[in-house]
Amino acid sequence: MPTLAKNLSTKINSKISSIPNPAIRSFNQKISTIPGIIKLTIGEPDLNTPEHIKRAAIEDIKNDDSHYAPEAGKEKYLEAVSKYLAKSLGVTYDPKSELCATVGVSEGLNIAAMTLLNPGEKIIVPTPVWGVYFGIIKMAGGIPVQVDTSNDHFLLTPEKLTETLENEGKGAKAVIITDPSNPTGRVYSKKNLQELAAVITKYDIFAVSDEIYAELIYGQKKHYSLTQFIPERTVLLSGLSKSVAMTGWRIGYIAGPAELMKSMIKVNSFLISAVTDNVQAAATEALNYGDQDYVAAREKYQKRMHLLQDGLEKNGYTMATPEGAFYIFAKIPSKFGCDDVAFASDLAEKAKVGVTPGSYFGAGGQGYVRLSYASSEENLKEAIKRISSYTESN
Ligand code: PMP
Repeated sequence: MPTLAKNLSTKINSKISSIPNPAIRSFNQKISTIPGIIKLTIGEPDLNTPEHIKRAAIEDIKNDDSHYAPEAGKEKYLEAVSKYLAKSLGVTYDPKSELCATVGVSEGLNIAAMTLLNPGEKIIVPTPVWGVYFGIIKMAGGIPVQVDTSNDHFLLTPEKLTETLENEGKGAKAVIITDPSNPTGRVYSKKNLQELAAVITKYDIFAVSDEIYAELIYGQKKHYSLTQFIPERTVLLSGLSKSVAMTGWRIGYIAGPAELMKSMIKVNSFLISAVTDNVQAAATEALNYGDQDYVAAREKYQKRMHLLQDGLEKNGYTMATPEGAFYIFAKIPSKFGCDDVAFASDLAEKAKVGVTPGSYFGAGGQGYVRLSYASSEENLKEAIKRISSYTESN
């Protein structure tokens, strides 16, 4: 096994060592060693990829589809993305110039950050947010400017955006909107987005819209996208990881104006050349024929959301009403104080329930924990029992 040459460890790009590993994952790993723990930590569907989607990949392999795909993605996949966006949002994207296949939204975010940000440039990030954004922005040389939304029901308001663009975010290139939100499950209304769009236009910045949870919205709430209002400055990122349980396939897409997409596709080709053929074939099937899969997943998650919300509320945990994705962001009862890392560690050790500390999601997350309900009903019921007896006895 090679050991790194003595002096080389100090010669690794210092930017990389200055960026911490994603805390969500290291905390999850740490608590995974606790015997009998029920983990509500990771945003990973417990459902499996539907059979017809798997079959599409198998057929594709059998047909020897094993050569480099075009840099922007395969024609059929991009056509399916275009059709899906037209149907779900009523927006038109030309598959030949306005779309790019990516290795999940993760790669899409990296492409967006590398394409939009020069070294030292700012991007506004409403928080609490999926903490991985911070590392991605810093790797691209950018500076994330956090805006705490915890006093605004966890939604970025036009006033807060304006205030940030006039002060610590002055000169920012872009703002990221995650809708529905990880970790809060909050969803922006049409009016919210229209008001934000007006500010984004006034300050002449880009909008990066992460819509990975778009298919997972519950009750009366409906999904809208900034691209319906300001397509000329929106970079839409989405994928199939969450909606059809395809996290391990690593597939997503970027949509945006052709001139911008030329640069994004160039970055994509330097990073990965092109997305895996059979994965694109599976995702094409999912986009073209996956409607019923979304409906089934949504029904399951909605039931679980109510189960977990009721269980937590009965035990004195409060939360902003979850409306989408598969997370609840719950405030820790005041008797436990507001050290969410200490609380989550103690809950894991004593009650054997794994939840993620809220402060890992940035400003405004302190004193909260995130619980993922992408877990079986049986697990959730048992977790509630354990949280209940822990809360009563401490
Ligand atoms: N964006 C958000 C808001 C997420 O929560 C996640 C996964 N946790 C991702 C992007 C990554 O998605 P993908 O699997 O498509 O890379």
